[in-house]
Amino acid sequence: MHDSASRVVIVGGGFGGLGAAKALRKADVQVVLVDRQNHHLFQPLLYQVATSALSPGQIASPIRNILRRQRNATVILGEVTGVDSDRRRVFVDSADRKGVAIEYDYLILATGASHSYFGHDEFARFAPGLKSLADAVSIRNHVLSAFEQAEAEEDPKRHRDLLTFVLVGAGPTGVEMAGALAILVRSMLQSEFRRIDPTLARIVLVDMGPRVLGTFAESLSAATRTRLETLGVEVRLGHGVELIDADGVTAGGERIASKTVIWTAGVAPSPAGKWLKAPTDRAGRVRVQPDLRVPGHPEIFVVGDTASLDQDGHPLPGVAQVAMQQGRYAGTVIRRRIAGESAPRPFRYFDKGTMAVVGRGFAVLQSGRVRLSGFLAWMAWAAIHLEFLGQSSLRVSVFVQWAWTYVTGQRGARLIVNYHGPATAEPSATGAEVASSIHFRESS
Ligand SMILES: Cc1cc2nc3c(=O)[nH]c(=O)nc-3n(C[C@H](O)[C@H](O)[C@H](O)COP(=O)(O)OP(=O)(O)OC[C@H]3O[C@@H](n4cnc5c(N)ncnc54)[C@H](O)[C@@H]3O)c2cc1C
Repeated sequence: MHDSASRVVIVGGGFGGLGAAKALRKADVQVVLVDRQNHHLFQPLLYQVATSALSPGQIASPIRNILRRQRNATVILGEVTGVDSDRRRVFVDSADRKGVAIEYDYLILATGASHSYFGHDEFARFAPGLKSLADAVSIRNHVLSAFEQAEAEEDPKRHRDLLTFVLVGAGPTGVEMAGALAILVRSMLQSEFRRIDPTLARIVLVDMGPRVLGTFAESLSAATRTRLETLGVEVRLGHGVELIDADGVTAGGERIASKTVIWTAGVAPSPAGKWLKAPTDRAGRVRVQPDLRVPGHPEIFVVGDTASLDQDGHPLPGVAQVAMQQGRYAGTVIRRRIAGESAPRPFRYFDKGTMAVVGRGFAVLQSGRVRLSGFLAWMAWAAIHLEFLGQSSLRVSVFVQWAWTYVTGQRGARLIVNYHGPATAEPSATGAEVASSIHFRESS
């Protein structure tokens, strides 16, 4: 196939996949982006949906809307289930067809990560993780329902279990969730309940490590812990979780009775490594070369949370900036190759810094030698998150919501919404026979 007709299949419309698609905007290629969700999700603000600060529509946008002006890009809603790297095809399940083959000349896998329960998958039933919009809405339902149940409960002894919230994992997500939950229960719900006192709710943050935000500087970990404790969060460190069941958690031999346990401790990469039968690191992330290609497959790139690459002797972290920069890089390599230009230099991550927010008006920020905690860091956090929200409509909406909440103390979306399951058609019985390939209009 001549390069001008090359098809680049990108699997995943997260930070990495979208970065790659956009870098190919002016390339003479056909871009096919496949995602099992119809939306690009801004995961760093998921905890705000889970704690009713924002609504789902404020942190996600339809992928086809984001790429609407990119004439060479086609978006397919479907789940990739495997890759045939010899015949250069990916297999996609959609609502009504299974195993549909899409051929590629170049493949970029940007399929992210999911929860890891460190070998205790039985915890998943009782301790949901936070990775998707559905997870966030489900946790929001659970937290709000706990207060409703407690208000209706005659037996005051049961109030304690209902109003104890345990977060497992004191990384950025656990810390941010704990801070946001504390603000919700201590200052926002107080005036609305008559039979219970929401301010008596317990929020317990558990981690086996010796400090919260273990990847940050020690001074910032200490500032974060102090801030959490000021907000009334109980911080339990140095003990792993031994048991989670319907009635609570056991950590370090201590039983904490709770009806709401949230898992924020670990992530596992997507099965991309298995699809490719490629070398992986211990966590299962695909080991890529310095130009992000898979060894032995110059036409396959893996980027973002599902890729493993060392820089200066350390593995790159699973953060949005790495995924964005890697996606952009992979797209650029392909664009330059197709244009007959020389390959760019090996990928190098430019670390703009990391941050975490702890309740209202307080964040910690670490960038190079800069260490900042408090209100100034929070302002920087808010500005950066607004800047990186995909679309200007979301930026305006989130900014107005934050300003409103800051001034009035009122939260955006305190709704308990129970869905009735997916409204999709039944798959046809033998999808693989019905359709073994998918056809695209030639891009103009
Ligand atoms: C709660 C939370 C908070 C976070 N906070 C921060 C933060 O503050 N700062 C920061 O830098 N990072 C943060 N991160 C990490 C950051 O979001 C990730 O590093 C980043 O999203 C990785 O980008 P990605 O493109 O690799 O994967 P993702 O953004 O996860 O995108 C993967 C995409 O692939 C799709 N997909 C997966 N499997 C398939 C399949 N089989 N078929 C089709 N589509 C598939 C998914 O639907 C998804 O759209 C946070 C993550 C979480 C979960």
